[in-house]
Amino acid sequence: MAPFGSFFLPGPTEVTDAVLAAQTRPMIGHRGKGMEELLAGIQPALQRVFRTSRPVYISSSSATGLMEGALRNGARRRVLSLVNGAFSSRFHKIAGACGLEADTLDVEWGAIHTPEMLADALKGGSYDAVTVVHSETSTGALNPIAELAKVTHAAGDVVLLVDSVTGVAGQPVESDLWALDFVLTGSQKAFALPPGLAFGVAQPNLLERAARATGRGVYFDFLEFESYTLKNQTPNTPAVSLLYALAEQVAHIDRETMPARWARHESMARRTWAWADEMTARGLPMRVLAPAGHRSWTVTCLTVPPGKKGGDINAAMKARGITISAGYGKLKDTTIRIGHMGEHTLPELEQVLAALEEVLAS
Ligand SMILES: *Cc1c(COP(=O)(O)O)cnc(C)c1O
Repeated sequence: MAPFGSFFLPGPTEVTDAVLAAQTRPMIGHRGKGMEELLAGIQPALQRVFRTSRPVYISSSSATGLMEGALRNGARRRVLSLVNGAFSSRFHKIAGACGLEADTLDVEWGAIHTPEMLADALKGGSYDAVTVVHSETSTGALNPIAELAKVTHAAGDVVLLVDSVTGVAGQPVESDLWALDFVLTGSQKAFALPPGLAFGVAQPNLLERAARATGRGVYFDFLEFESYTLKNQTPNTPAVSLLYALAEQVAHIDRETMPARWARHESMARRTWAWADEMTARGLPMRVLAPAGHRSWTVTCLTVPPGKKGGDINAAMKARGITISAGYGKLKDTTIRIGHMGEHTLPELEQVLAALEEVLAS
């Protein structure tokens, strides 16, 4: 097995041995005392990660499940989707698939949405919900969700539904302070857990909407999540083994503390951007796709030098024992992506960048 520090996909991310091992504990019943104690131990730590006093829902699904849940519980009729990449486009498609009227506010892949753009688009009052991706994993762009939430609420009875799948646990997300009506993430990104769980926080105004929503369905009914979470249970059978992994990992995150975790991610991001500049100065142009000041701390998308292909660079890295990612969707050939999130450290990242330098120069 490759040593820890060689797997830099922007999801799933590398999982430590301690967390992998936690999953081998024996089963327990999900309506018993043991499960209640397990969930009661996890909940305060999850609240510290989300910076919230609200209950944090734990869904045995991938993040897409809670994206659908956000729309079924939080949107009434007409949705505006801020689209700047593949995952924000997915959020829009889910809205349509849930039978909602959904428009897009498109900007170029790699760009962000400014509060002014959103304020303009909300004039006229026809939308009741806005979807946004905080850290667009396909491009590395970071949308200013605190400001976007302000503008959304200034437009009246409109809610902001936030996909922060590569945000939460890797860079600042202040669920309560920023009044994010609903914010969600998945286990396999900055949380550095195996795939299969999703987490979300709903503010009380979103639950009021949910209470009046007729198409909430069953599996992602937020009223059910709310009441069960408050009694340290889950609405249905949870992925028990993944909960063991989660308990192990949130204890680790608590020991690290959120400010230190954010700082570690920021230092890896800044190193990657500086390295791209160094490469460019040496005649191997590597450009960070997202504009300065609006870059994610967890994933960097780099345009590759002319004549090179993302897929080839990726394969050459793999031959050196290091996994990074090709571009996503229409950026497949022209970019590569490095997921510097989860439990990775600066020294591990330096090894990735050194290998990448060799590959690019060859
Ligand atoms: C990975 C990712 C998702 C989708 O997560 P699944 O776990 O595959 O459902 C959604 N949004 C963003 C921004 C992501 O990075």
